[in-house]
Amino acid sequence: MGFNVVMMGPPGAGKGTQAVLLAQELGATHFSTGDLLRKEIAAGSPIGIKTRSYMDSGVLVPDRVMAELVASHVLRAARGEGFILDGYPRTVEQAQDMQTHFAKNGVALSAVVNIQLSDDAIVERLVHRLSCSKCPRSYHTKANPPKVAGVCDGCQATLTRRKDDTEEVIRHRVRVYWEQTAPVVEYYRSRGLLRNVDGSQPIGSLASMLREALAPRVIARSATA
Ligand code: AMP
Repeated sequence: MGFNVVMMGPPGAGKGTQAVLLAQELGATHFSTGDLLRKEIAAGSPIGIKTRSYMDSGVLVPDRVMAELVASHVLRAARGEGFILDGYPRTVEQAQDMQTHFAKNGVALSAVVNIQLSDDAIVERLVHRLSCSKCPRSYHTKANPPKVAGVCDGCQATLTRRKDDTEEVIRHRVRVYWEQTAPVVEYYRSRGLLRNVDGSQPIGSLASMLREALAPRVIARSATA
């Protein structure tokens, strides 16, 4: 069985970037619920049609829609190579729902990482963010630019600005985070699963801090697996 890690933190904290790195290192599957939803929208699927307006305005998609989207993907990975889950759960209801679903299927979380970042730093990062149109990588026009302007270093697809990365929508997403998602951090803290890390570090230092926070529970065991 692999390691099952939930990445938490406000929008722009670096969950996606760190999740990609960690998934590569652990050989786990990376799921970003935001990316899954954007794919559904691009495909014009019924879920995509239902969720587009929520995402464009920075509000959360209803819990029951999310549960449907996440359950099968995550369970399959949990039974195999493990997962790094980025963007889920975002409400206490989602966390409880996932816990019930996991308990029924004999799956457990290994750890929950909480990347902390101030509201001002979030806005500064997201207004300068470029996202890959194909893979989960993202860049910052100044702090972490791509090697070739407008092109993803990893998969060479075109980089785009996300529709919800405008200052107005970012500020709304931050409010939604504090109201609806911050209580999930407490949910996991009280269950002894939470590891806090400082998200203001550059990508490389944050990756090292994150590994320290997860060791020995996750990393050391994966090295001997
Ligand atoms: P992200 O790419 O993680 O920043 O997510 C972008 C948007 O997708 C959010 O603002 C929500 O509208 C939606 N979304 C992603 N994950 C969830 C979730 N777990 N629950 C509800 N909505 C979500």
